[in-house]
Amino acid sequence: MGKYKAKIGLEMHCEISETKTKVFSSAKNEYSDEANSNIRPVDMAFPGVLPVVNKEAVRMALMASMALNCKQPEYMYFERKNYYYPDLPKGYQLTQETKPIPVGIYGEVTFECEGEEKKVRINNLHLEEDAASLDHYDDFSTIDYNRAGVPLLELVTEPDISSAAEAVAFLEHMRSVYQYLGISEADSKKGQVRCDVNVSIMDANLDENDPQNWGTKIEVKNVNSFGGVRDAINYEIKRQTKLKENNEYANMEQQTRRWDEESGTTIYMRSKVDAIDYKYFVEPNIPKFKLSKKWLDEIKSSLPRLAYKRKKDYIEKYNLSDYDASILVKQKDISDYFEKTVSLGCDAKQVANWTNGMILSYLNSAEMSINDFFLKPEMLKQLIDLINSKTISTKQGKEVFAKVLEKEKSPEEIVKSEGMMQITDTSEIDTIIDEVINENPSQVAAYDPERPKILDYFIGQIMKKTRGKANPSVASKLMKEKLDKIKQA
Ligand code: ADP
Ligand code: MG
Repeated sequence: MGKYKAKIGLEMHCEISETKTKVFSSAKNEYSDEANSNIRPVDMAFPGVLPVVNKEAVRMALMASMALNCKQPEYMYFERKNYYYPDLPKGYQLTQETKPIPVGIYGEVTFECEGEEKKVRINNLHLEEDAASLDHYDDFSTIDYNRAGVPLLELVTEPDISSAAEAVAFLEHMRSVYQYLGISEADSKKGQVRCDVNVSIMDANLDENDPQNWGTKIEVKNVNSFGGVRDAINYEIKRQTKLKENNEYANMEQQTRRWDEESGTTIYMRSKVDAIDYKYFVEPNIPKFKLSKKWLDEIKSSLPRLAYKRKKDYIEKYNLSDYDASILVKQKDISDYFEKTVSLGCDAKQVANWTNGMILSYLNSAEMSINDFFLKPEMLKQLIDLINSKTISTKQGKEVFAKVLEKEKSPEEIVKSEGMMQITDTSEIDTIIDEVINENPSQVAAYDPERPKILDYFIGQIMKKTRGKANPSVASKLMKEKLDKIKQA
């Protein structure tokens, strides 16, 4: 261990992308459309218009709160966070302060980082609205209100993270949680995830459970990609370590800095003493409302199993390897496909092999979602059954797979129409063996049971006659028996 250890806390903002409409207006929740096409007067702060809370957004936020093991509120209300910026037409953002409970407090998340189990405590989770988006050009700027009012979930962790790798693993875990809950794509490339990263360092030999021993918190604002989070943390740890070595750390004030993607550095914005006072107060146009126990229970019982749990199940119940299980749960659609096929009565290991092998490589090279994939779980079961019943060989199975996708017909139809059925019927193979023996007297004479190498020649002849359809293990067994008998006679 080095001389210092890092304490890292994240504020992760993630848009809820799966509601139909915005969080306080009936405009469509979709901002990739033409600029300023999905807007209602309330999104532009026209006078006299009133916000209406989107129940679906609250439900999704509560799902997240439950999935993070947070405590949920009994009543909910919103607050105005007052500040001016051109992307904020109202002059305030509707959000929730942490008192008494926003959509959740005091949760805990377990995730994996480099094969180790980690825990991060959640300080709180709250629901708010996104701002409009600004684009800056040489001598003018444009504003698009489509994003104004898009529901945003902000998650605040305790500073339980200790490295850049751990922070990224946590964010990847959270992306998976939101995707599995069906509340957000959580795609940072689409600008749906933005983070503020808080970093400090402390002496490694001190007790990290005592906040008195923590270093000075440096907040890095607006980090918009997971790679940015990693780089910003590593940059700050290095920068702060240098300050420590130069005895410049102890008297440092809390600061807000911003991440500059281009230079890969953090740049000083303001000191905590200049912190903005947002003058929070309760939004008077949204009455405080009660969340019924019945509704909360309904939401709780609707929570899907998340990736972390599914992976554990796959390893424990199905004996899959850690590696196979990890690949299966990476995307919920793939995991659902796997589970559906297994539920039809297939062997989990076989399904995992097909899914992680042929299917994923096909989907990747075709850049296709499994939802658009022609070979549905029912067909994968057919294919596996055809192989298990030895109607076709494993090798033929791969050909059938390709033909199913090419001709858009079921595996059974393909096997029939292509005449791919293996011959396993022993009497049929027997007849062919007799023909081969009659036609090859010198090879029969050369056969030596101690050195059955010449058997390959006979199998070759059988395959020729059946155009490859004889089941090789059945053919080889029968052929050997017959030849041995001839030799004994
Ligand atoms: P503020 O009141 O300045 O917003 P909070 O206590 O709400 O500060 O913390 C904001 C974020 O900073 C949280 O994610 C928290 O975990 C993190 N944090 C707090 N103290 C430290 C510290 N000493 N080092 C690193 N992160 C910290
Ligand atoms: Mg705070």
